[in-house]
Amino acid sequence: MLSPDEFNTAVRSCRFCPMCRHADVTVDLTRSETYSARGRGAVLFSALQDQLPYDADLGDVLYRFFADGLCHEYCAGHIIHDEMVIEGRRRLVAAGASPRSVNAVCSNVERCGNPWGLEEPDLLSLSGATSRAELLVYFGATARLKRRSVVLGLSLLLRSSGVPFTVLRNEGDPGLLLYQLGHVDAGISAATQLRERIAQSGAKTVITPDADAYRSLKAGFDRVAPVTLQIRHSVDLLKDLAPNLRIRRDAPRSVGYHDPCALARFSPCHDSPRELIRALSGSAPSDVRVWNRNLAHCSGECGGVPFTHPDMTERAAQRRLSELRETGASMIVTSDPAAAVALQNSDLPVHELSEFAAACVFGERWEDEINSTM
Ligand code: SF4
Repeated sequence: MLSPDEFNTAVRSCRFCPMCRHADVTVDLTRSETYSARGRGAVLFSALQDQLPYDADLGDVLYRFFADGLCHEYCAGHIIHDEMVIEGRRRLVAAGASPRSVNAVCSNVERCGNPWGLEEPDLLSLSGATSRAELLVYFGATARLKRRSVVLGLSLLLRSSGVPFTVLRNEGDPGLLLYQLGHVDAGISAATQLRERIAQSGAKTVITPDADAYRSLKAGFDRVAPVTLQIRHSVDLLKDLAPNLRIRRDAPRSVGYHDPCALARFSPCHDSPRELIRALSGSAPSDVRVWNRNLAHCSGECGGVPFTHPDMTERAAQRRLSELRETGASMIVTSDPAAAVALQNSDLPVHELSEFAAACVFGERWEDEINSTM
């Protein structure tokens, strides 16, 4: 969270500045300066001067933003634009003026442990994990509830490689989403509770396929410190296991890779996914021109936008898909279940990396075969 002085500096810096405009996905999609970085600076400056109220109109500007870290990559003044917007959102929440969709996410996480308010699966039996092991897999809410093939694929690969692992019966939420939506205290509380559950598990290493959870656990955020255990993205472990996997000869070769924002910029993990794809398919994945690695455009899944403005998420996803299509790839792979969900409305197959690895080892119909035995 920015201090009042840091917030003032950020607002005054951004309100007249066009320097990151070309990197801002929102202004590109809306073609409106209101939704640019300087537009957000301008409305927050007016709010600071009591010329604009903290109301739904201000909320519309602040919540149509992906908080994807890309503005910061181009900022000569090192202004953390994302944090400026998050502080503006926090003030909207404090004023009771945040959108209903934002408050619903907060109450869903508190009530059910996930942002959709869905009933949680029995993760221990779904994954086939053991009740105690040195390796803990934190699957994350999207894998648990929106993309179970990630749970099934990663678990199958670990079990077939003889790697014992455990899971948390109640994974809960890593807190970053709540923080980004402006429910700062709730986000910090969720992150703290997760750290306590991980400590009580007795695990020594945590892996996760969820890019935002990886960022939250590895780097922390705001007052939340990084977890002191070894934290790895699941692609790192799969890359270690790859030499001993029996990869099928018909594994797909023409793969385009999408860097999820958390791995692109916040907790950089650029090479391991590419090395894993090369080990599985025999060829390096194709990269989007310019907008790859630390400059990767958002799939639309960041900053809480899927909850506040799902239309913006879909448009950002289609924009990213058109960039990925230009690589000539026949399949898209990413290392985050939420990015895979955001990109799934596509004419090309889209896979999270555990799903892709499972298909390369067990064949394209691996999931059908698992489901028929469950
Ligand atoms: S984040 Fe930096 S580059 Fe972007 S508008 Fe603000 S001051 Fe300018």
